[in-house]
Amino acid sequence: MPAANPPTIGVLALQGDVREHVAALELLGCATLRVRRPEELAACDALVLPGGESTTMARLARTFGLMEPLREAVAAGLPVLGTCAGMILLADRVVDGAEGQETLGGIDMTVRRNAFGRQVASFEGPVEMAGLDEPVHGVFIRAPWVEEVGPGVEVLARVDHGEAAGRIVAVREGHLMATSFHPEVGGDSRVHQLLVDLVRPRSRAE
Ligand code: GLN
Repeated sequence: MPAANPPTIGVLALQGDVREHVAALELLGCATLRVRRPEELAACDALVLPGGESTTMARLARTFGLMEPLREAVAAGLPVLGTCAGMILLADRVVDGAEGQETLGGIDMTVRRNAFGRQVASFEGPVEMAGLDEPVHGVFIRAPWVEEVGPGVEVLARVDHGEAAGRIVAVREGHLMATSFHPEVGGDSRVHQLLVDLVRPRSRAE
């Protein structure tokens, strides 16, 4: 039975692949909101930080007056999924960032930006992910990987072949999730469903 009140999931819409995330969320029956202003952020039950360019997104978040509201929302427990550049934004620490690169932080991890070498700067393939029965088709585009995680961070996926084998490419810490790859292509919304699942206990408690 569909929920009487589907959750409203925001997609940070300053830059990046916003439309693909909106489509993936609509397939799940969520209400969606493109977030460019603090008032829009306040109306969301959860948020997606899309792929794109993390330095540009952080700079625009500052310009649009969203940096502090985003940090506050993360600290207050808003469920957030960051993909690729969005993963970088959720990292407490970044290696090989641009000079002075800001993040929102929230996940106790060190992320290496543009980590996959020039040879494999972009590739795609199946990724086994904790919590999902079948692998996700992961699309990696100048993707980061996670170099190290703190004790509270759950590793959801690692690369299972090639030069990058063993590298962490999906994590969760409480209400925050991040993937190195783009899970939003090809009509598969299962990773987005994991985000929506984080909304429910919160709404029930209200
Ligand atoms: N390399 C980009 C960055 O540093 C991320 C690439 C992506 O999101 N596809 O932000």
